[in-house]
Amino acid sequence: MDDEVRRAIRGIALQNAYEHDGKTRNDAVISKLLGSRPDLRSKVKEIIPVISEIISDVNKCSISKQKAELESSYPELLVTKPKDERIGLPPLEGVEYGKMVTRFPPEPNGYPHIGHAKAAIIDEEYAKMYGGKMILRFDDTNPENERLEYYAAIKVGLDWLGVKYDRVKNTSDDIELIYKKGLQMIELDSAYVCTCKQETTSRNRREMKSCKCRSGDVEQNTKRWHNMFEKYKSGEAIVRFRGDMQSENTVMRDPSLFRIVEGNHPILLNKYRVWPNYDFAVAIEDSIDGVTHAFRTKEYELRNELYYSILDKLGMRKPKVLEFSRLEFAGMPVSKRILKPLVESGQVSGYDDPRLPTLEALRRRGIVPEAIRKFALSLSFTKSDTLAPFDALESFNRKIIDPTSLRLFMVTDPVKLIVKNNNLPSVELPNHPQKDLGKRKIELDENFYISGDDTKSLRVGDQIRLIELYNVKITKVGSVIEAECVDENFKTDLPKIQWVPQKNVVRLNILIPKTLFENEKFNENSLQTLQGITEGYYLELNEGTEIQFVRFGYCRKDSAIQAIYTHK
Ligand SMILES: [Zn+2]
Repeated sequence: MDDEVRRAIRGIALQNAYEHDGKTRNDAVISKLLGSRPDLRSKVKEIIPVISEIISDVNKCSISKQKAELESSYPELLVTKPKDERIGLPPLEGVEYGKMVTRFPPEPNGYPHIGHAKAAIIDEEYAKMYGGKMILRFDDTNPENERLEYYAAIKVGLDWLGVKYDRVKNTSDDIELIYKKGLQMIELDSAYVCTCKQETTSRNRREMKSCKCRSGDVEQNTKRWHNMFEKYKSGEAIVRFRGDMQSENTVMRDPSLFRIVEGNHPILLNKYRVWPNYDFAVAIEDSIDGVTHAFRTKEYELRNELYYSILDKLGMRKPKVLEFSRLEFAGMPVSKRILKPLVESGQVSGYDDPRLPTLEALRRRGIVPEAIRKFALSLSFTKSDTLAPFDALESFNRKIIDPTSLRLFMVTDPVKLIVKNNNLPSVELPNHPQKDLGKRKIELDENFYISGDDTKSLRVGDQIRLIELYNVKITKVGSVIEAECVDENFKTDLPKIQWVPQKNVVRLNILIPKTLFENEKFNENSLQTLQGITEGYYLELNEGTEIQFVRFGYCRKDSAIQAIYTHK
């Protein structure tokens, strides 16, 4: 082995150890070495012992010694990396630290879902990154769709996610001010009141034609504006922005700024009947709230021209609008238009049905907020609005819950097993193989259950290992299996299976959520239910406890008789 190769290996080992709390491993060093020196691939056999020797030497050094050697001999490998580097969010240009203001503006018209989570997390993370503030603003200007319970549900969802905001307000708080701005638009002749039928307006938009209302003067429009508050009925008049009926951007073809909505607003009740449209309300609110950066999903991109035009006409301060990609899971739509009928018809059990993408449902299924945050940030500004596979979220979740999930035995499709010569009265098992999550005592006699699946190929004379207990030899097969302990011939390569004693057991329904929609059709088999038997210890756990049923998967305790499958 030449000295140059030894030197390269030592450098890689030191660098890797220094970046990993002072310890490195063979595989890490080998892959890095062969990555930079493909010519050594044919010599792997000779190199491996050298690597092992160097690693064992490097791992004996303290981190400070490793660093000192890197500094003196391999300065090029010593790049200091900030420890808590944020994932996902790209830095923004020209932001003044301490001056940023973001806002999360949900409409209180439904339960918060994964899409809301992503938006709120981005707003909050940017505000934190730049020492700024975040406003939670309920965008409540559609009285027909909004309900008080949704304002509350959104707050509960944000609390659960751990998203903190500095101020909370409602767009409807500013309704009088928004009227003032509306009238100002009319007085500036930047808006007019249109009394055409809705079909006519839609056709004109498609055909790029103006209607006769467009040529009305300020005096006519002012009069009609006041009539909207008293005389006109819903659908008889709208305020339109004077845009460009020939614009390539269809949003700019004289969009609606106000319309009449009869019906009770959840907070203001029936005090008002003229309501601003989203585009007008959001522009005014962002400007007066001091928002510097308004994040929204890419589907709004064409609306930016209108947003800025409104503020230009009124001479108001313009926030910077930025788009992120919309987050939705394949087969798990977030649209209220789709979810509401499912809930109302009973096809799903409610907004917390574990098949849904609502935060309430994800929580019930065993997804933790930290996983949602990491996942959302990992996809923050991806170029297109793609559908994410649910298992991408699962893999973030698994890493987080694994160290705190209790290991318990559970068998499905149970078959009785009698171990004739059992002489252990009880056994004490750790709740986690590595972490100290306590222990549990299981009372034993000769009667056990094992999973039906595990018995299918059993023959008399076969040996199996009952996990954490002993090896048994099968003496009889059939609807009841008989066996005897054979501890003295301890073998390690036996099939290892989980078991449950027959006394003190809990019968459990395990709900397994599957994809809700397949090929855009409701999947009738999207919720599978399995019957299982688990240890009596299950009853001592709090609802919401995450459990890894050995050889089955992670589940969250939903009630004394029900658990929900989280993921493998
Ligand atoms: Zn008209």
